[in-house]
Amino acid sequence: MKLLMLARNPRLYSHKRLVEAAEARGHTLDIVNTLRVYMNITSHRPQAYYDGQPLSGYDAVIPRIGASITHYGLAVLRQFEMMGVWPLNESVAIGRSRDKLRSLQILARAGLGLPVTAFAYDPKQTDKVLEIAGGAPVVIKLLEGTQGIGVVLGETEKSARSVIEAFRGANVSVLVQEFIKEAGATDLRCFVVGGKVVGTMMRTGAEGDFRSNLHRGGSAKTVKITPVERETAVRAARKMGLNVCGVDMLRSNHGPVIMEVNSSPGLEGIENATGKDIAGQIIDYIAANAKAGATKTKGS
Ligand code: ADP
Ligand code: GLU
Repeated sequence: MKLLMLARNPRLYSHKRLVEAAEARGHTLDIVNTLRVYMNITSHRPQAYYDGQPLSGYDAVIPRIGASITHYGLAVLRQFEMMGVWPLNESVAIGRSRDKLRSLQILARAGLGLPVTAFAYDPKQTDKVLEIAGGAPVVIKLLEGTQGIGVVLGETEKSARSVIEAFRGANVSVLVQEFIKEAGATDLRCFVVGGKVVGTMMRTGAEGDFRSNLHRGGSAKTVKITPVERETAVRAARKMGLNVCGVDMLRSNHGPVIMEVNSSPGLEGIENATGKDIAGQIIDYIAANAKAGATKTKGS
């Protein structure tokens, strides 16, 4: 197969591993900088170009689109979908996952476990929002945050209100969630490939931090999950329409609750924690499923 990856930094662990795994199986994998791809949007022969050359002849495209370039990155991915190239994750599914409110609503509609979550646009509704989330302690999250940045614990009613007001004063939206204290600064990452959980890890936050993100100094080790946790991860991936994703959840008193579904999950943490060749499983999945023109959504 001839594979193309849309990514900004070819030197990232995940990207290097995917190239390695593809080459080990006799495929080629080219990496292009998503932001340097340009396109001809036309109904007859849509095309994408890079450095003066058309990007053609690919069997599949692997999107590794960073959150900060979601808008342009998804336009580029849609272009490949229109050209009939099979995407590992479809643009529409990635779009869902990048919108926190939309994702939570999709997961809620499917009856999946979530922390009680409240959102209001209008700062005058702060009291109501706090009330819905069950009152302090609550977790306050920037709607646009990633890697644990902009996730704050409001321990008292008063501190929660001042955090919400500070964010609102800076003109950013936040959602407010019940604090799952019993999770003990630990979350589960279930790595899903093609509707199966292929690796699981437990991440624990740095001393004194309730956030378990590796980027925030947390540490990871592999973990055995329960059948309910497995089912939750698989159903979340399916409802979001993602072939490859990382489903993050907390172990709450009322079962697993989903934090988020990440459509470009990193490979370093999960491969190191599990000792598994997850990159190889992704490439094998592509080889078994890539089919020209088989994209379901093509952007709508
Ligand atoms: P990001 O998308 O920026 O990683 P998350 O929503 O995943 O943000 O939150 C980061 C971390 O903070 C989670 O992995 C978890 O450890 C902790 N956390 C988030 N929400 C809650 C919550 N409602 N209760 C307890 N801990 C939480
Ligand atoms: N970007 C990596 C991932 O999505 C790391 C996540 C983290 O730091 O928690 O898997």
